Amino acid sequence: MEHSRVNVNRDDVAAFLKTVAQAIGSDRVHAGEDDRQAYSDQMGFDLARHAPSGAVAPRSVEELREVVLAANAHKVPLWPISRGKNFGYGGAAPVLAGAVVVDLSGLRRIHEIDEKRGVCVVEPGVGFYDLYDELARRGHPLWLSVPGNAWGSVAGNALERGKGPQPYGDHGAQICGLEVMLPDGSLVRTGTGAMEGSATWHLSRDTYGPAWDQMFCQSNFGIVTRLGLWLMPAPEATLSVDYALPDASDLARGVDALYPLRQRGLIDHDPAWVSYVGIASFVGPRAQWYEGEGLLPEDVGAGIRSQLGIGWWNSQLNFYGPEKVIRAKFEVVADALAAQLGQRPEPRLWRQGDDFGASHAGIPSTRDMAMIDWYGGRGGHLGFSPILPADGTRAQAQFESTRARFEAAGIDYYGAFSVGARAIININEILYDRDNPQMARAVPQLMDTLIADAAKDGYGEYRTHIDAMDTVAATQNYGADASGMGAMGRLNGVLKDALDPHGILAPGKQGIWPERYRG
Ligand code: ADP
Repeated sequence: MEHSRVNVNRDDVAAFLKTVAQAIGSDRVHAGEDDRQAYSDQMGFDLARHAPSGAVAPRSVEELREVVLAANAHKVPLWPISRGKNFGYGGAAPVLAGAVVVDLSGLRRIHEIDEKRGVCVVEPGVGFYDLYDELARRGHPLWLSVPGNAWGSVAGNALERGKGPQPYGDHGAQICGLEVMLPDGSLVRTGTGAMEGSATWHLSRDTYGPAWDQMFCQSNFGIVTRLGLWLMPAPEATLSVDYALPDASDLARGVDALYPLRQRGLIDHDPAWVSYVGIASFVGPRAQWYEGEGLLPEDVGAGIRSQLGIGWWNSQLNFYGPEKVIRAKFEVVADALAAQLGQRPEPRLWRQGDDFGASHAGIPSTRDMAMIDWYGGRGGHLGFSPILPADGTRAQAQFESTRARFEAAGIDYYGAFSVGARAIININEILYDRDNPQMARAVPQLMDTLIADAAKDGYGEYRTHIDAMDTVAATQNYGADASGMGAMGRLNGVLKDALDPHGILAPGKQGIWPERYRG
């Protein structure tokens, strides 16, 4: 889909912005040059390709409805964001240049925290820091799971199926019960919330009839205005242990050692094997170790590993629960890993009452953002995130081929393999300097190549950057018709057209285009 050729009509946008200003106030309309910059993809390579026309910022569901109705009247495409910190995947920027960002960061109410049942209900603008502060105020009865960079929105991250290294780290899977504005401005409540006065909206997914929560994740079928999320009850204690494997070739045994333990419930979260450049990038820019051009030389890499006391691959395992239970689990895990990895590192125990900073609770941080300074200049980063089977040989092969592609593009390899019970999410961070024209040219090609390589092995992406959404959608080719469109793409298209006849909501998100932009 050559969506970059689709032009959004400037007069329509101007008329739309005028209508919105009249309805919700001109201070809620941000359409100056600075605003357009602010809502662009700060990490991406081609700002113009995804530059918005501006942004509107409703403060309530009623104001949001005014925005949606005006968009239908003027046929102007919208791009809803919660806090717009989707770094590595497009930030606040739309797929379609000229779309108007709907910034929901002003909808900031925490509707509810049910301490007993472990649930929070949030509006899109509630950030991880906001929710953490509220839980801290209550003495941490529930613990968060947070992504590596926690600037963003709790709802926005869950809706994109973001991940965290905690037990409830599959954020999309913790969603229970949504309120959604459909593209026609009407509101629905999913799950048991379909009943007026439901007593179990955010407590049960045993809905009567089809379950629609996931239909609004990574889609453009509605704007989520309220989201229920399950949180972990505070554990009595935690136990934490670090493993390091010395060689690049160690990933296979690292993966094969972990996933059976995860599958049996002996490890409470998806542990990741993180390559050393990732860890080094949190410590400082590459110039700290190497001032030269080109790839980081192997001897410099070895020096970094010995200076930081880390391996080529590094993983932290955390155990959460009553001390007796986690000590017992740890013993089983440590024995298994001693046999397979030849090491038995000492664990660290944390108990309620100890310094909370050492608890391995999900404490929001922006430490991961340091990675964008790896090369200096205007740092950029892009995520390439395929899903593989939990299998050491396959993980090793995927790593080797990805590293070769990175190196051919002149970029230091940084990848993490997050080991689940049955599958691995392999998040590769493509770090680069946006001021370096060679890199800025190489990176989009690298993405396309990686996506194509992965598809050959039967691996799709769990999430992708706005610029690669069509490319990834095209890999969903089961049941392809003569035009090459797969069965899933056709189903998504049917739903899109039924729900959004004027094609106003996030055209092109996840490669789903409404009729007026197709063909
Ligand atoms: P975060 O700030 O947590 O990184 P964003 O606000 O950037 O999250 O949201 C990431 C993506 O999720 C957006 O680009 C958008 O496509 C989608 N999204 C976010 N919030 C909503 C929402 N309330 N309704 C529908 N889609 C949303």
